[in-house]
Amino acid sequence: MRRGQTLVATLAVLAIIAILAVVMLKGTGGAEPKAKADGRGVTVLGNAMATANDSACQSNLSQFRQLIQVQKSTDEEFKPTTPSDVPGAAGVSKCPVGKELYVIDENGLAHCPHLGHEKY
Ligand SMILES: [Zn+2]
Repeated sequence: MRRGQTLVATLAVLAIIAILAVVMLKGTGGAEPKAKADGRGVTVLGNAMATANDSACQSNLSQFRQLIQVQKSTDEEFKPTTPSDVPGAAGVSKCPVGKELYVIDENGLAHCPHLGHEKY
């Protein structure tokens, strides 16, 4: 009888842990649209990963824009149309999430074509 009670108590503890894990990983359900566009953001961990990747893209894009500015400061005629026109930008010319090359518009501004990154 004592052995049966121990088993029931163990199973109860495991059930509580399982419920807590589901609650923790389920997320809020209010995930941001940018995260959902990536097919992630459904769980708390997915949200955190999507946010980290989005930050990586913003940082990358910022460095890429700075490289364009540095080049423009030494060469006023510098008008890049593709990322390969920007010297030294090979490491930061792509979105780290979708690996798409950044797009340079007619005003010389760099943008990320990845879904959800349009406003960076
Ligand atoms: Zn991006």
